Amino acid sequence: MTVEDWLSPECLEQDAIYLGVLTAWGVKPLSRLEYPVRPWVWASLRHMALVTARLTRYAENGAWVEHWVFSRYAHLVERYCRQFDRQPLNGDSACLVRLEADYFGYPQCCAEEYLRSPDVPSDLLPADQALLFHRACTGCQVTPQLLPWYRAALVEARALCDRYASRNRWPSAK
Ligand SMILES: [Zn+2]
Repeated sequence: MTVEDWLSPECLEQDAIYLGVLTAWGVKPLSRLEYPVRPWVWASLRHMALVTARLTRYAENGAWVEHWVFSRYAHLVERYCRQFDRQPLNGDSACLVRLEADYFGYPQCCAEEYLRSPDVPSDLLPADQALLFHRACTGCQVTPQLLPWYRAALVEARALCDRYASRNRWPSAK
């Protein structure tokens, strides 16, 4: 896959649905999108009983950017919005890395190794590491238990996207 493929709307939508499934299953307490998606994706996330919210952040150059978050838990969405809506985008402070690990369901061991040594390569198989949104720490005991959920969520997300695509591929009746 090329970079262009990864950035295609279909890939971003599949990524959003993948995050949605992981969040609906409770693997991730909350997830964040940093790109817009079409209304069917929001409909699908709400169908998974996820609570969604849109936030505005501002970059160092003063530009406003939009983020979206979703969770099974309204109080987590509210807390995230209270902490981050209309706030500047900061770099990777240790506090932020730990906070995001809590929100996004990253094991704390992986967050702590990332803070100590951000450039250590993952010792997972590349195909396994590619399923994740965090880098597994060296010899991680937690991530291998999460991997079956990530694999199953990707299968589910692909099925949901295929179903949407096949419904919309049919020629419209005239
Ligand atoms: Zn770990």
